This record gives sequence, structure tokens and C-alpha cells, in this order.
Amino acid sequence: MRWKAVLRVGVAMAAFAVATTACGQQQGLGSSSSTPSVAQGVHFEPGTTMAKLAEAHTIRIGTKFDQPLFGQQILSGNLTGFDTEVARIIAGALGIPPDKVQWVESPSAQREELIKQGRVDLVVATYTINDKRRQQVSFAGPYYLAGQSLMVKSDNTAITGPDSLRGARAKVCSVQGSTPAENIRKYIDPAQLTLFDVYSKCADALRTGQVDVVTTDNVVLLGFVSNSNGAYKLVGDTFTKEPYGIGIRKGDVAFCTFINDTLTQAAKSGAYANAWKTTAGKVAEQTPQLPTFDSCS
Ligand code: GLU
Repeated sequence: MRWKAVLRVGVAMAAFAVATTACGQQQGLGSSSSTPSVAQGVHFEPGTTMAKLAEAHTIRIGTKFDQPLFGQQILSGNLTGFDTEVARIIAGALGIPPDKVQWVESPSAQREELIKQGRVDLVVATYTINDKRRQQVSFAGPYYLAGQSLMVKSDNTAITGPDSLRGARAKVCSVQGSTPAENIRKYIDPAQLTLFDVYSKCADALRTGQVDVVTTDNVVLLGFVSNSNGAYKLVGDTFTKEPYGIGIRKGDVAFCTFINDTLTQAAKSGAYANAWKTTAGKVAEQTPQLPTFDSCS
């Protein structure tokens, strides 16, 4: 099952380290091999979000700045990761080149507000589609299916999955406003849970021994594992379904449809697979298939 897709870390970690270094030396475009095509002479129905963005020739995209493999700011100040590549593909379909994208850091708890307040045009940020969020924003996609998992220090043999947390004293870290922070409450006492605003703070807390477990989506954790020089590992199977959507203003059906069409095209052209291979695919084993979309509403 896709949810249980095995994510191979070992050898691929070295490959990712090399790739990260290579990206760090680039200015502007992240990885040149995944530079998306930029549509020329685009025309959209007047009044649509697409027409406004194409005319403005710039777009504000909310993403994570501290999540290796999906959205991470590198030394050049540029953003790298699967989410940022997907975002660049969408910008390109609007005729907007990568250097005209304005990135807006979007921690988990702020994503709905950033969209509602019109401070971003869209959010691509390991953002799970769910009904609670759908009351405030709309989602295109999903473009990827993740699942919640646990990350512990490599020498920890006591914690093997969420059930092993029941009745244990383990301190668990996650992020405010995230679905994993809610889901994990079924397994632990509230006093065991520490919440930060971003996952890199949880990874630091694990390193310094302030917490024993970090929990969020498998692919988010995999980014921290791959950067840890063997200090951390994932344990157990994924235990939730986290379909990643592209958050947009609620009710913008035309924009949702445009984004879904763009993703379909990107899957056909190989741009979607390339976005994966040049980012998360450096560490994760399989190139995903584009999932079936939800209907736009
Ligand atoms: N996908 C989950 C969520 O949207 C966890 C990852 C995150 O916080 O970005 O809440």
C-alpha cells in the first residue's frame, strides 16, 4: 500500500548530502535539472485568479522554510524541495518564472490565515486536506499521499510505533496547528506532548534529549533523518493518511481546476516525476504516481 511505502534511507542519505551541496551552490533556480518550463503568451479569462497572476507576472507562494526534502531555505536564500518544485511548476504554467516567485514562510498553524487574509496566492506546504480546513480554504490536488510516523534517536529500541507510547513516559514533540499533533493525542497523555511552531525545533529537542519522539508525516521526518548523520530513525508503519493539497482561497473553483490540470500535464510531461527525483526522491525509494484528485469546490 502506498501509505506503507518503504522509504529507504541508508545509501541514499549520502546522495542527498551531495545533492544539497550542489543546490547550495546555485543561485535562483534551485536544481537546474528540475527547472520548470515557463508558459509563453498565456491568456486566461479576464477576472480569474490566473489572469490576475499572469498579468502581475509574480506570485506569492506559502511554503515551509525548515523542512528538508519538501521546503527548505538553503544558504543562497533560495528554496528547495518537492513542494517548492511543485509550486514552480504551477507558477510556470501561469507564465511566471522561478525568479518572480515570492516565497512566504508558512508554519503549520498559519496556513489558513495566510490564505484567508490574502497574504499568499497559494500554499504548497506538506498541507493535509481535511474537512476542518476545508471550511476555511479550498484545496487543489492531492498531489502526494503521506502518512504520520515517529522519529526517535537511532539507539532507541523501546519505541517501535504509536502503540508503544501508550502508558510509556516518552516525551513527544510535534507542531501547533498540524494534523499529527491532534492524531497523537489518542496514544499519549497531554502532559507528554510538546508543541513548537516548526518541526526543526522538534528535531533540535530530540538531539538535545528534551524529547524522545518527534511525530509528523513520514516524508517530513525522513528529511530530518537524512540530515542527521545516522542519529535519528523512523519507527513503525505510517498510521494516518495525509493527502497533500494546494491551499487556495475558499471557493476559487477555476483556480483549483487550473492547478489540477497543470498537475495532470506535469505528470504526463515527466515534470512531476522530475520534481520528485531531484528533491525527496534523492532519499525516498519510489517516485509517486499523481493521486486521483478530489473535486474542486
Ligand atoms: N501534513 C500535516 C499537516 O498538514 C503535517 C505536516 C505539517 O504540519 O506541515 O498538518
